[in-house]
Formats: sequence, structure tokens, C-alpha cells
Amino acid sequence: MHTLYFDLRDTKGQQKEIEDKIAAAAKILREGGLVAIPTETVYGLGANGLDGEAVQRIFEAKGRPNDNPLILHVTGQQWLPRYCRDVPPIAYVLARKFWPGPLTMILKRKPVVPDETTAGLDTVAMRCPNHPVTLAIIREAGVPIAAPSANTSGRPSCTSAQDVLEDMDGKIQGVVDGGPCTVGVESTILDLTCEPPRLLRPGGLPLEDLERLIGHIDVDKAVTGALKEGEKPKAPGMKYRHYAPKAPVTVITGAPEKSAREIQKRITATSGVICFDEFAHLFREQEVHTLGPSGDKLTQAQRVFDALRTFDNSAVTEIFAQCPDNRGLGLAVGNRLKKAAGFHVIEADSERVVLGLTGGTGAGKTSALRAIESLGGTVIDCDQVYHRMLTEDEDLRRDIHNAFPSAFTRDGVLDRQKLGQEVFSDKERLAQLNEIVYCHIIPELRRMLEEGTGDLFAIDAINLLEAGVDQLCDRTVAITAPAELRVRRIMVRDGITEQYARLRISAQKPDEYYRGKCDLELNNAADSPETFESEAREFFQRLIETVKEEKQHGTV
Ligand code: AMP
Ligand code: MG
Repeated sequence: MHTLYFDLRDTKGQQKEIEDKIAAAAKILREGGLVAIPTETVYGLGANGLDGEAVQRIFEAKGRPNDNPLILHVTGQQWLPRYCRDVPPIAYVLARKFWPGPLTMILKRKPVVPDETTAGLDTVAMRCPNHPVTLAIIREAGVPIAAPSANTSGRPSCTSAQDVLEDMDGKIQGVVDGGPCTVGVESTILDLTCEPPRLLRPGGLPLEDLERLIGHIDVDKAVTGALKEGEKPKAPGMKYRHYAPKAPVTVITGAPEKSAREIQKRITATSGVICFDEFAHLFREQEVHTLGPSGDKLTQAQRVFDALRTFDNSAVTEIFAQCPDNRGLGLAVGNRLKKAAGFHVIEADSERVVLGLTGGTGAGKTSALRAIESLGGTVIDCDQVYHRMLTEDEDLRRDIHNAFPSAFTRDGVLDRQKLGQEVFSDKERLAQLNEIVYCHIIPELRRMLEEGTGDLFAIDAINLLEAGVDQLCDRTVAITAPAELRVRRIMVRDGITEQYARLRISAQKPDEYYRGKCDLELNNAADSPETFESEAREFFQRLIETVKEEKQHGTV
């Protein structure tokens, strides 16, 4: 098959010629053909998304597994109700703010969308790309365009028309060249069919931007780590080892100076290195591809696939890659690198261990925290952090003020008692407040950890897992205790009646909840706080050893 090339890099020139090319590409699509199209994220391989047979050809051209659904590309939110049912209002809020742009929303599908497009799922992925040429093509075609990334399955995504031709020449009807992609990583995928919304794939739109608008978002496990055998990600595409060069990749996380040093320790003359610009001079003997300056995540996103792609044709025997932190676009860049590495990750800050502790009243969390302090650890109490932020953090105060104006006096002073009254009788309002707090407290905790000194930290939070604090922790530990012991302990501790003690315990989440959600459980059946503290010390000492060892050798 001859692949037509449509050069639409310059859209300011001859208008008639441009319109003709757009019309020609749209016609191929309408008639069931395949055309690669530029978007701001990566190049897409498009077909008429309502034509099951055309969509099937995308899978054949890419060699894509049939269970991996595609994204439907549209020109605006007015297309949502045509293909999706029960569209929640929040989808429109997001579309108004972020479309056109690198955000894909998962919504319930209508029957007009064929099974081929959704891989048989009853949900469909919707996006409005921010590229004038592709928007014009979709408008002209008059149908939504189903498109995954335009690479051969398993290879890094294409960020230029040249990349697309490398993979697809002769296999598809046309390639539209709209210039290099400005974002460089795929769209952020957000599932809106669950509550709270769930991040299925980090991408060109940072998680923080989304949370600022809609509050807390759960992060799917497949984003940050390898899935266990048989575990199913919610975005089917996340289970495949993507973006993989031939040589095995090892990702080194941590402060750039430290990760560079770790790479230096490990390289040989046949190693390849992906690093930030500042460190390239350290690897003169090796094949090096740079990601841009360590502080410039925009450039890193633009270059990450190119770096991986170039190594695909190289004879290096192994590749080491520096990795940005998880903030902003760093989450997407790091995710692509880690996926290329099959999640083989070594932490340069391996001496540092962060534990998250949670559990109900009377279980012994205070003694457990004391044990960590006796091991030289620093305890971060989320309650305290929250109270400090209430007076110091203007952004948090503003968001609380917007949602709870009546909890503030006329001169803008927060009346905490009033706020308390407003939320404690109303579950929905409490959830709303929690969401606001969670999305401000995580960055603050991250900052405290980054600026803190020492190798051991324990974060103490009753809502550890709901708030997403676990993403900052190497391990989360549930402190539990037999129910009767808890009752007796808080009676003595707080000087309350048995009845009241039982009431307080039953108002909290049961031990099973914490047990099920945390990585580990530390059960406190000891007969004195001192005994438990020394048991806890031993427990944490062993745990810290295990975590450190894992970090030094890399985890998969
Ligand atoms: P690509 O951009 O080539 O990686 O392909 C589209 C991505 O969207 C894949 O990772 C799919 O798994 C994901 N996706 C598409 N539709 C859905 C859906 N209905 N639910 C969850 N994920 C989806
Ligand atoms: Mg892809």
C-alpha cells in the first residue's frame, strides 16, 4: 500500500491547498481508511470511530492486542452526549477548562460506539485534541476519530511524522504531518465512572491541575508500580510493557545529583544513559540521550519518547535513566520511563525510609510512633500539619472559604468551631472539606519530606489512605488491637465510661478496614505500653532493613 503524505506543518500558507489536504484526509477516514494525525500529545493512528471494520484495521496495522480500547477524538464537549450516556456534570466542568487539551475522560458509552473501539467495555474514552489540523479533519469528516498512538504496539509513541513513517509506512493510507508534538507524552486518562474520579494514566495534563479543579483523585495502582500476575488495570493499555527499547532499562529515582552518582557506579563502556543535560558530561564514554535540564519537565516530556526510540536502534547492552520527581509532568515522564524499565527502579535516596501509620483510637499508634522516634525517626503528625496550614496556607484558606463561607467571620477569620459544626453533622460536607484538605496537604507533606533531614520518617494520619498519603510512603502500617483491649485502654487514658468508650470506637472505621488497606499490620495485644513500644521497635527495625535492601537492589 502506498502511504500518502500530507504536509500540513504550515497552516498559514495557501488556504485552498490546506483545505484540499484536510478534505482528502477526512475523506479517507470517512471511507474507512487509516490516517495518522498530529495532536499536541503524540501522533494518533485514526479511523472512523463508528465504523467497527475500520477500527479493526488500526489493531492490525499496529499489532495491538484486541483487548486494548482506543480513544475517541472529538472537536468539543457538544459531542459527548452523542456517544456517552449519563454524562456527569463534572465532565463538562473539566471539558470547559481543559479541552481542547491532553485530557481523556472515561464515560459510559452509548450503543452507537462499536465494540471494536471500546474493546467490548461499556465505557468509552473521550478526548478533544488541541491541534488545529486534526480538529479541522474531524470537523470535516463529521465523525469521531478513534485513535491510539501511531506507533507499532510495544514501541515508544511517535512525536513526529517521521517517527510515524518509520513504523507505519506502507501499512496505512495516509500520514498528516502537523509538526513535532508540543506536549510529547500521551493524554492524562481520568475515569469519571467512579467516585472519586480515578487517574488511570498520567499524561500531558498534571494531576495537580485536575485536583485543583475537582478535588481529590484516586491514583490507579498501575500508574506507580508493576501489576502482580493476574491483576487487571482499569485502563487495559497499562498492563502492556510499553515503550520498550531492546536493551533492559533501569530507572534511577531521587535527587538528580544522587541518581547521576548511582548511574556512574553502575555503567560500563557498553551502557546507554538517559540523563538530564547537567550530567551528560559525566558519561563521555557512553551513548547518551539527554532529557533536557533537570528543572524543565516540559522539555523532558517532549524528549522522553525520542530518547527511548533512539535507543531502539542502538547496540547498547543496558540503559540507565535518570528520572524526575512525581510533581507536575514528572509523574507522566517518570511513568513512561518506568514502564520502559518494566518498573525496574532503583532509588538513589535509598537510605531514606518513609512509613505511614494509621489505625483507630486505643490501638497504640502513639506508642508505635514513640518507637520510631526512639530509632531516630521524625514523626509528621498530619493533624498538626493541617492546623498549621489553616493559619499559614492562603490557598487552603481560600478554597475552604469558597466552600464554607459561613465558617468565616466578616473580616475573614476562620471560626474553627463553626466549621466543625458544619461538617460533623453532614457527611457530604465533611467529604467536601476532606477533599479540599487532602489536595493541599499532600504537596505540603512532600515538601516537608524533601526539606527534612534524616533517613527515617513516619507520617501519622487517621485518614492516611483516603487522603492518598500512602503515595508518599514506602510502606503503610495498620496499628490494630483486640477490641476489648481498646475499650479498656481508652477508658483509662481518657477517664471515660465503658459505654462512651464503645461508642467512640464504633464511630471509627473497624480494624479490618485498616488491615485490608495497609501493606502491613502491627497488632498490639501487649499488656503495657512499654512492652508494645519495644515490640514495635523490633518490628520497625526489621521493616526498615527490608525497605532499604529493596531500594538498593531495585524493585520490580
Ligand atoms: P494509547 O493512547 O495508544 O495508549 O491508547 C489509549 C489508551 O486509553 C489505552 O491505554 C487504553 O487502555 C485507554 N482506554 C481507552 N478506552 C478506555 C476505557 N473505556 N476505559 C479505560 N481505559 C481506556
Ligand atoms: Mg499507545
